[in-house]
Amino acid sequence: MVFSQPSGRNKQSLFGTTDDRKKPIPTFRLQPKGPPPPPKMPTVDDLLDTAKVVALPMHIRFRGVKVREALVFQGPAGWGEFAPFVEYDDAEAKMWLAAGIEAAYLGAPDPTRDSVRVNATVPAVPADQVAALIGRYPGVDTVKVKVAEPGQSLEDDVERVAAARDLVETVRIDANGAWSVAQAIEAITAIGDVEYVEQPCRTAEELAEVRKAVSVPIAADESIRRSGDPLRVAQLDAADIAVLKVAPLGGMRALLNLAHKLPMDVVVSSALDTAIGIAAGVNAAAALPNLHRACGLGTGELFSRDVAPSFRIEGGVVKPRRVEPGIDLPLASAERTQWWHDRLRRCHAQLVRR
Ligand SMILES: [Mg+2]
Repeated sequence: MVFSQPSGRNKQSLFGTTDDRKKPIPTFRLQPKGPPPPPKMPTVDDLLDTAKVVALPMHIRFRGVKVREALVFQGPAGWGEFAPFVEYDDAEAKMWLAAGIEAAYLGAPDPTRDSVRVNATVPAVPADQVAALIGRYPGVDTVKVKVAEPGQSLEDDVERVAAARDLVETVRIDANGAWSVAQAIEAITAIGDVEYVEQPCRTAEELAEVRKAVSVPIAADESIRRSGDPLRVAQLDAADIAVLKVAPLGGMRALLNLAHKLPMDVVVSSALDTAIGIAAGVNAAAALPNLHRACGLGTGELFSRDVAPSFRIEGGVVKPRRVEPGIDLPLASAERTQWWHDRLRRCHAQLVRR
């Protein structure tokens, strides 16, 4: 069947009638001039209304835990996570709450890229388990290997790193501040060439000393996120790379601001986050103007159950996406739930007082 073509004044197109096209296009504003007002700080009751405390089982012990607890809540912009490690005090934990509130009430900053390269993470396992762990991260070319685990020897580290090096192009190591300056220099010399050594010693001063003594680049993690002054690392010339995490820094925008001020490469990493926290990390990494290295955002692979399907790594990258928790969540016990609610109340009170 053939339709006849309308003609003259009534001829329609996607842009209106032919005659309409001669008229000036009306303009209007979607929003009043100026930046939108900041969203109101939610009350504790707002947060607890949708809060769920989850206890996520892990494939492997990491940071001394095999179950990761987190409190997640929903706001108008999506879901936020509050999961400071249990040993952190409220002053430190309140930053994690600020990050969760930002995700749930303000949402993500505008992206500058549509995917983020990630690294595989190898905990302090025996060398013969390394290949299986890396196999969980399809297409990655960078592996972060944990070293300096209490109770293990330098030989264990050397073997674990060598096993990773056999499989991928780029290996970075993380000592979580466990070495003295002398131990760091000895270990770095024994382990050999790596992309960088993350937090070889505890303090920024020690990092600066190690950095002077070795040719391998030094990355700062705890020296930035657990220090009162995250710029001190730069002032002391203590690092070549900054490892930045959304939750301890107080949110995606706080991370972007700090990255802008730091005169060094940045790697965005997770803090053993659930898929909700990982989403914030991926969004922050996707919004950075410059990103040259793989990010530590593939740690969802360490969970045997997450609040939502983990970020799928394909070709070594993850893509930003919105995360909604499933309905059948592994919930924490009543006692642990109460512990998290109390912690949330105390941290919220500190944030409001700020
Ligand atoms: Mg680290």
